Amino acid sequence: MNTEAEPPAMILVIEDNPANQLLVQTILEQAGYGVEVTASAADALSILERRRPDLILMDVQLPGQDGLALTRQLKADPTTAAIPVAALTAHAMAGVRELALAAGCVGYISKPIDTRALGDQVRRFLHSARPGS
Ligand code: MN
Repeated sequence: MNTEAEPPAMILVIEDNPANQLLVQTILEQAGYGVEVTASAADALSILERRRPDLILMDVQLPGQDGLALTRQLKADPTTAAIPVAALTAHAMAGVRELALAAGCVGYISKPIDTRALGDQVRRFLHSARPGS
């Protein structure tokens, strides 16, 4: 990690698969990020009432309200619209990447998650959301 005083970026992970939750949390914490994990849209909205993450990793397939519907909701709300959202998408889901971009996502991360690429992918999404960095 660099030695600047800037606090670590906070990443909200919305993912209902326990194995993916653990994988993403472990990798991102090792990379120095603050991580909060939740498994549902309802819990995510509750978290977003008290915290403002620097990036949201959004599973497309969630129980209840799905990830793309939640993304559209966040983009329609002025208090959350500026938070970048990256979709977590399965390779097999044809067309879902285009749907993710149409919903307002800045991009996507393919599942199964590439553990060696995840840190760079997250860094890229964070920087794309921070002009000048
Ligand atoms: Mn899922």
